[in-house]
Amino acid sequence: MTMDNIHTTEGVRAPAPLSPREMHIERQGGLPSPTSRRFPQVRGGICEYCGVIDQNQPSQYQYKLCPHYRGLQLQCSYCPNEKDPDEIILHAVLNVAEHPDRPGVLITWCDSYECSKKHWKKWGYAES
Ligand SMILES: [Zn+2]
Ligand SMILES: [Zn+2]
Repeated sequence: MTMDNIHTTEGVRAPAPLSPREMHIERQGGLPSPTSRRFPQVRGGICEYCGVIDQNQPSQYQYKLCPHYRGLQLQCSYCPNEKDPDEIILHAVLNVAEHPDRPGVLITWCDSYECSKKHWKKWGYAES
């Protein structure tokens, strides 16, 4: 089948047509989809690309000054709500990626054992 056969002559046209090339393929098992965008890790509050930006600010605020995350309050998606996000960020490595199914949505997970486990479970990482 070629691309030319997929023209939607019948039925309702999707509001924002995407070509399959632009879309993500859902994968069950295996590693997380390499097509989901990854953003710089925030290590102890410091963006891995930008490093310390303002020496006068505590390290858990450094990422809030960098061009990647400026103005953003990052928070681990899996840590309990009652924990202070700044406190978590100060003591953890926070991974940030774009939601594979929802562009524009970030998913975050810290490097704690519990959260990593939940993350891999949710995103289909095969545990064997
Ligand atoms: Zn940065
Ligand atoms: Zn966490």
